[in-house]
Amino acid sequence: MSRLTSAVIRQKALETGFDVCGIARAETYPELTYLREWLRAGYAGEMQYMHRTAERRADVRRLLPSARSVIVAASLYNVDRPYSTEIADPGEAIVSRYAWGEDYHEVMRARLDALLDWMRAEHDGPFDARAYVDTGPVQERVYAQHAGVGWIGKNTCVINPGLGSWIFLSEIICSLDLEPDQAALDQCGSCTLCLEACPTHAIVEPWKLDATRCLSYLTIELRGSIPEPWRDAVGAHVYGCDICQDVCPWNHHAPLSLDPAWLPRPAFDRPRLIALWRRSDAELGGLLQKSAMSRAGLEGLRRNVAVALGNSRETGARGALDESDSERPSARAPLVAEHVEWARSKLSKT
Ligand code: SF4
Ligand code: SF4
Repeated sequence: MSRLTSAVIRQKALETGFDVCGIARAETYPELTYLREWLRAGYAGEMQYMHRTAERRADVRRLLPSARSVIVAASLYNVDRPYSTEIADPGEAIVSRYAWGEDYHEVMRARLDALLDWMRAEHDGPFDARAYVDTGPVQERVYAQHAGVGWIGKNTCVINPGLGSWIFLSEIICSLDLEPDQAALDQCGSCTLCLEACPTHAIVEPWKLDATRCLSYLTIELRGSIPEPWRDAVGAHVYGCDICQDVCPWNHHAPLSLDPAWLPRPAFDRPRLIALWRRSDAELGGLLQKSAMSRAGLEGLRRNVAVALGNSRETGARGALDESDSERPSARAPLVAEHVEWARSKLSKT
């Protein structure tokens, strides 16, 4: 009999640096079928990779035909800084909490590899396995729910009853036939705070997110121009948005992680919009490296900062946008320049 039971895997996951771990069977779940409906509704916007990978996302057995179990391991990344909804200063840039520290893909990947290496050493004989951190074509939230890691909230985030929703998910899909955990129970109840708080009403109904109007999509995934009707709602968000998690009662007493990996890098520890804008391209580009924020790209980030400056009532915002600086060629790129013009125009009216 293998020593590799679900209980020892969960225990080892905690020793490896994860905060919670659960196991789901690699089988068909009704929630896996919702993706097609979501794509048909056009909610994925420009995220063509979602359409391209929809077939594989339908079932992890398309990725690993011998799959029997999905081990979901999660790490808490909440650190001791205010929630975005508590920040009253319009000159402060808002960056999504998950992107403050080190690139979670790399940190989580190292933990997952360590867990999988240990599993291979412990198991009598070979087994098939594939490990993913966010970027794989896996509907990880569905497996997280069935692994008991947390339920999928109405804001579409996975919520763990003890940790809240500030958790990174990762998974090992394997051919081992492991004892599954009980699925997590939905504890949203009659609450609708996230739907009400969303500045663009992107949560069109519970559990249904229209990404095309979500600030996370508009400031990260969207490569082109941010549609004008949404620019006011961007507010001071320069990378992502946490509002629907900030207001969630399950995050009001969320524990803090002691992991230094998630502490904000100094440049993104409550940065001022003007200071961010004034950074040279070399500086900004350097800051994006080894960071989850690299996804927006340099021009994307500058575009967002321009919009946020336009929305700020910060003294000096107009002056900062008017400065010409040879160290910031990205500010003159057509995409950014158009948003700068919009911001100038908005600031001249305030
Ligand atoms: S991340 Fe922000 S914009 Fe997107 S659904 Fe949540 S509150 Fe709305
Ligand atoms: S804010 Fe309320 S409805 Fe939204 S995810 Fe949290 S508990 Fe669920």
